[in-house]
Amino acid sequence: MVVPYKHEPFTDFSVEENKQALEEGLNVVQSYLNHDYDLVIGGKRYSTNDKIVSVNPANKQEVIGTVSKATREHAEKAMQIADQTFNTWRKTKPEMRADILFRAAAIVRRRKHEFSALLIKEVGKPWNEADADTAEAIDFMEYYGRQMLDLKDGISVESRPIEYNRFNYIPLGVGIVISPWNFAFAIMAGMTAAALVSGNTVLLKPASTTPVVAAKFIEVLEEAGLPAGVVNYVPGSGSEVGDYLVDHPCTRFISFTGSRDVGVRIYERAAKVHEGQKWLKRVIAEMGGKDTIVVDQSADLELAAQSIVASAFGFSGQKCSACSRAVILEDVYQPVLDRVIELTKNLSVGETKDRSVYMGPVIDQAAYDKIMSYIEIGKEEGRLVAGGKGDDSKGYFIEPTVFADVDENARLMKEEIFGPVVAFCKAKDFDHALEIANNTDYGLTGAVLTNNREHIEKAREDFHVGNLYFNRGCTGAIVGYQPFGGFNMSGTDSKAGGPDYLLLHMQAKTTSEML
Ligand code: GLU
Repeated sequence: MVVPYKHEPFTDFSVEENKQALEEGLNVVQSYLNHDYDLVIGGKRYSTNDKIVSVNPANKQEVIGTVSKATREHAEKAMQIADQTFNTWRKTKPEMRADILFRAAAIVRRRKHEFSALLIKEVGKPWNEADADTAEAIDFMEYYGRQMLDLKDGISVESRPIEYNRFNYIPLGVGIVISPWNFAFAIMAGMTAAALVSGNTVLLKPASTTPVVAAKFIEVLEEAGLPAGVVNYVPGSGSEVGDYLVDHPCTRFISFTGSRDVGVRIYERAAKVHEGQKWLKRVIAEMGGKDTIVVDQSADLELAAQSIVASAFGFSGQKCSACSRAVILEDVYQPVLDRVIELTKNLSVGETKDRSVYMGPVIDQAAYDKIMSYIEIGKEEGRLVAGGKGDDSKGYFIEPTVFADVDENARLMKEEIFGPVVAFCKAKDFDHALEIANNTDYGLTGAVLTNNREHIEKAREDFHVGNLYFNRGCTGAIVGYQPFGGFNMSGTDSKAGGPDYLLLHMQAKTTSEML
């Protein structure tokens, strides 16, 4: 029997031994900085002259690794191999596929601090955020492995005396996994693990800013015994490789996490049926958010301020779950704002190889430029009360930034910024607060800080987000505990780390035998 699932605990780095373990992890990563990584197609390595260069966003001069860039020819080759491999992989025992994930999780657990150190370097995560990312990668493998064991015999249906009916889930085919840079390990590994454990084969195209952690994950899967060709590693540009694979007639499904623009583009392209295609492609998309924390008069105001700051500025606000709007009831607006300003001004920004630094850089120049342009927009739309400055001379650093008195219809309240910027908006009453909270195209996360039971019940019904939290922040969903995913333009309503996620990668088959 497999032991019941429990999430991987977070590491307390105030314990000297744990701190040393992570420092040791940083040394290990240091020893392989600047290595070159090949494409992996059907278990074979392919090197190209054209490279993706992954750099440390906190120190642009530091190269984390160079990675071969797949061309269309590589993508085609990988597709053919994945398509062939599917014929055998789909018939493997679900137990065997789950065991590979359990073994992979154990390998990562043993190298946990090395992986977190790599995330500190490649993504610029602070220690606790990197540790949570690695823990979540482990969780996804442990959880989806168990989910597959639960699903392997299908669901019982009725049979009349003269027949035996069965209802089973079978895999779909070749899936394209296009993963994000913000949870460069967890979400990349989670999307891949879900697809493969359900019996599909995969072409993995990781985000171009964070391909090294994905290359390391491929090595882990190989070590865990995953047969060649089940997961193929094809980093490359969206226009060269991404579009080609999305359009490909052999593609059965696309699993995407990233921006709304790219998600919508994939969804539209996948809808087109190409010559030789025998199915309608499925798209699993997790996109953006414009997430709100609502605070009413009855709330613990200190908890509210702490929750806003942690949700807005943890990992520099680069989570689709991040709080970018604080909607506060009039009576308590000023004290909450004052406390948030005070807490924000005490946050440190810098290179996160130092454990004490609260906030690292943003991911790249494009992100930096976009966030800084929103800070300029914010100066027109609201009152800058904390932060506002950036420095991209060495890395892409932006101060945690708070704008007060922003109108509910301002751009700052509607558009996803994906950076350390939070807008404060005043609400007349609780209904008005919920109206503002729902007034976006997204519907991913939200939180309400209140001690009023009626408000909790009202929000439960009317606050239209996939993940709604009470008396806490709006980030940090845990696999198997708070299945994660949102409504509306936040995606296709999928719930990663939830009991029905694997089903999105499968189709149900009914068999009926006359006795
Ligand atoms: N699952 C993460 C959380 O709950 C966010 C994932 C994302 O940003 O894509 O904070």
